[in-house]
Amino acid sequence: MRGMIHEQTEVTDKLREECGVFGIYDLSGSDVASSIYYGLFALQHRGQESCGIAVSDTNGPKGKVSSCKGMGLVNEVFLPGSLDDLHGDIGVGHVRYSTAGASTRENAQPLVLNYIKGTLALAHNGNLINALELRKELEYTGAIFQTTIDSEVIAYHIARERVNTATVQEAVGNAMKKMKGAYSLIVMSPRKLIGARDPYGFKPLCIGRRDNAYMITSETCALETLGAEFVRDVEPGEIVTITKDGITSDTSMCLSRDEQARCVFEYIYFSRPDSHIDGVSVYGSRIKAGRFLAMDSPVKADLVVGVPESGNAAALGFSMESGIPYGTAFVKNGYVGRTFIKPKQSSRESSVRVKLNVLKEAVCGKRVVMIDDSIVRGTTSGRIVSMLKEAGATEVHMRVSSPPFLWPCYFGTDVPAREQLIACNRSIDEIRQIIGADSLAYLGLDRLSGIAEGLPICTGCFNGRYPMDPPAEDIRGEYER
Ligand code: SF4
Repeated sequence: MRGMIHEQTEVTDKLREECGVFGIYDLSGSDVASSIYYGLFALQHRGQESCGIAVSDTNGPKGKVSSCKGMGLVNEVFLPGSLDDLHGDIGVGHVRYSTAGASTRENAQPLVLNYIKGTLALAHNGNLINALELRKELEYTGAIFQTTIDSEVIAYHIARERVNTATVQEAVGNAMKKMKGAYSLIVMSPRKLIGARDPYGFKPLCIGRRDNAYMITSETCALETLGAEFVRDVEPGEIVTITKDGITSDTSMCLSRDEQARCVFEYIYFSRPDSHIDGVSVYGSRIKAGRFLAMDSPVKADLVVGVPESGNAAALGFSMESGIPYGTAFVKNGYVGRTFIKPKQSSRESSVRVKLNVLKEAVCGKRVVMIDDSIVRGTTSGRIVSMLKEAGATEVHMRVSSPPFLWPCYFGTDVPAREQLIACNRSIDEIRQIIGADSLAYLGLDRLSGIAEGLPICTGCFNGRYPMDPPAEDIRGEYER
């Protein structure tokens, strides 16, 4: 017998962010490990494969770092008691999903490096496009790598520069001059916490404060979780250094505003809707995307629904602009952790769609506008459209709050090679037929600037115009080969 929940589907056709970073220095000397834990918990959407925390005591023996990292979600890696041995007033944490480098424990971050000047711990979000050259440069001088991630290349270059510089922040600056690509970094030295953002500003990074504790993190939602106040964003190209004397800033690497290129997908999908990036509300930009879709691609319908979670705000925006009622059509099971046993192809459960259920009563007999943030390979969209139709929707009109993906991303997002992208070499109508929708429309490329409120953005995966020359060959994952 079928109840209210009609059918289920597994949501797999989603892009994934590479990482989230969190650093803190409590100048009053209190332990920071639990704050990092809660900060990482708030950033869990940015990476679910591995996570870690490294802390140090600025008043203790110089260079002693305690760390804990492992595979899995924050609440799988850190069990009750895990933080008990992590003492220190300065620390850094990381959540990871791999787009370059295998998903293994060795590749989990933060990376902790012992070298002639002491210890460095590093957490990195982004992807370098010249990591292979930088790695070879070090290997030819005898360096032996323990991981296959570009973050270790960055850490080694900082350590090497540090030998010839007066301060660790200068070493970070010198290393940045060699690095090409996307990076938001947090570096912990024995007495300093340093945050650095690549000159294009691909990935977000911001500063917060709670009493005497300063924080640097990927998203403002982590600050709110900790009851910290937002101080400001780290500027693209800026290096901020937090010491017991406060914050200093080096902006010598900053580019002109026009040259900056934030990843617009942070607004469309990656970041949490309650975050603000460079002064722009993520929720607000998704509402706008929905409004633009309603203006540019209107349709007669009875109900607007979002594919949870990231399609919901755009669906609300579509409803506000069009006057078509907004509703809930899906119930999502959010408890699918890393250890979830996926159904085998051969078993009866292979067709059981585990993550998403349709509310039959909500859609039966209705013309439905369904909003999703993107279509990558198209596998999931087709399944969701057919679920709505099986539940009785008379028409399903799909609206997508981003333009079609036509090119891969080299900057830390797993937009795959062109041949895997459904929009590559297909017309919109051909895609519509494949997914089985009654109509299909994407957000126009010319609308992206509007959803980021005029901030300079990267649009490379939509039009192939990257802010810097992409690598001649796709080297993502090259270290394993
Ligand atoms: S290519 Fe696309 S996903 Fe990659 S940084 Fe640019 S906008 Fe973001």
